[in-house]
Amino acid sequence: MAEEPNAPGWCHWHGGPTHSAVLIAVLEAGSGPGNALYACAPCRDEQRLTPYAESAPPSDSAPLPSEG
Ligand SMILES: [Zn+2]
Repeated sequence: MAEEPNAPGWCHWHGGPTHSAVLIAVLEAGSGPGNALYACAPCRDEQRLTPYAESAPPSDSAPLPSEG
């Protein structure tokens, strides 16, 4: 299990703390900084998420965490 030096320690998909989160997507929020979404390893595997750094073209069809 490799440690992510910049891991925020939070998974937006299962909505809980994690030690394996990586940046998946950045939501543009008009003016101001975008909202970064992180997913842990199990969620990435389950949802087949691609790390943001590895996904060249931006995609609007990326699965997002469900609210509530
Ligand atoms: Zn997760």
